[in-house]
Amino acid sequence: METLALTDPTDLAERSLARVWHPCTQMHDHAGGADANIPLIPIRSAEGVWLEATDGRRYLDAVSSWWTNLFGHRHPHIVASLKDQLDTLDHVIFAGFTHEPAVAVAERLCKLAPKGLERCFFVDNGSAAVEAALKMSFHYWRNVGKPKKSRYIALTGGYHGETLGALAVGHTGIYRDTYAPLLMNPIHVASPDCYERAPGTSWEDHTRRMFADMELALEQHAHEVCAVILEPLVQCAGGMRMYHPVYLTLLREACDRHGVHLIADEIAVGFGRTGQMFACEWARISPDFMCLSKGLTGGTLPLACVLTRDPIYQAFYAEHRLGRAFLHSHSYTGNPLACRAALATLEIFEQQDWPSRARLLGQYLFNALAPLRSHRHVADIRQQGLIVAVELARSTRTREPFAASDRRGLRAYRHALKSHKDFGVLLRPLGDVVYFMPPYVIEPREIQTMAQIAIEAIDIATQ
Ligand code: PMP
Repeated sequence: METLALTDPTDLAERSLARVWHPCTQMHDHAGGADANIPLIPIRSAEGVWLEATDGRRYLDAVSSWWTNLFGHRHPHIVASLKDQLDTLDHVIFAGFTHEPAVAVAERLCKLAPKGLERCFFVDNGSAAVEAALKMSFHYWRNVGKPKKSRYIALTGGYHGETLGALAVGHTGIYRDTYAPLLMNPIHVASPDCYERAPGTSWEDHTRRMFADMELALEQHAHEVCAVILEPLVQCAGGMRMYHPVYLTLLREACDRHGVHLIADEIAVGFGRTGQMFACEWARISPDFMCLSKGLTGGTLPLACVLTRDPIYQAFYAEHRLGRAFLHSHSYTGNPLACRAALATLEIFEQQDWPSRARLLGQYLFNALAPLRSHRHVADIRQQGLIVAVELARSTRTREPFAASDRRGLRAYRHALKSHKDFGVLLRPLGDVVYFMPPYVIEPREIQTMAQIAIEAIDIATQ
């Protein structure tokens, strides 16, 4: 049998370009030539915060491979657990059957999650978790005799995934606009995004003020709305835009008052990223649905889940003839390997206070970026836990952005990959927002290096 040369260094990138359609990519950018020469980097291995390319060059994974990795690549405990699981149970249908890894993950998540979240529904990626939560909320209201509740409220600048329901409640133009004719019609309320606050206004005051729009939308539409969905504290894909937790406090109270569910999409911000285990904890609130994915398996395998409350679960729990069940499934729901990786991840969380470490490292990184504070093209540096974002702009005074066609963020990306002779830094700016979201095992000296290279990259990109 022919064996696959997985680490063939000679033409892996070319083979990939010939046959693979890469995600979130204009493939022409990789075509070569003056305006299309972004390298496609073939990776052969990874360890800790480092990725290693087939040519031996190393890259510091400053974005945790799309925000999934928490404890570094190939963490020994996750690797050992997965090897053990492979020797025991690979996969089994999850309807009519169950298994230890899934049950153990559900038990632990319900213990860790904000109070009242006592049921766990597994799916296999973040978008699917959002779809399931949206459907569950609608279906709940139907089961309790309120079928007119069939719309959602969401925030401008939000992002909840790429499937049609998730895309509809999102509001990030480059991903959504093309598909607008296919999408349901949610009510989008202005984001409390603190980058937009007036000079001299505090985050808290701005956030409180912005809540008026949400209150109004709830007043006008609660009768037809199932749920409000939002990313707690940080709108990640929308440009790492941040707001004060008071929004969540006010929203929880308003949702209760108006009889509307609250869906917290913690897919990006959950598992310690903001400096608390879950971002909702900053406001001491419990949502009605919490979507989790990404860090759930420590960045090893795809898995996601929706946590919800018992009274919601009970609205589906009835004799078969009443037809109330949630008939939603994916073939790989509750996959034992993915669940075992999640279990190992939750065990690592028990070894140390990782959210505190994320908070400390975030502060350290924020300080390391101090030279950028007086940079003529840096309009804002913001931080929440181990998410730090630098907003580039043509003018810091008026906040006039650079022309999108300048692709300044992309210039920074390219420079950071190649600037140092021995290694590169993998930044993946969102437009002109250069951000950092590294694994929690990053060392302070690696943070210094990463910050230094990013500062140089920003200098060059904004010339
Ligand atoms: N919600 C949020 C907040 C996200 O950041 C993402 C992914 N970036 C998703 C949902 C979608 O998750 P997935 O990519 O696994 O479908």
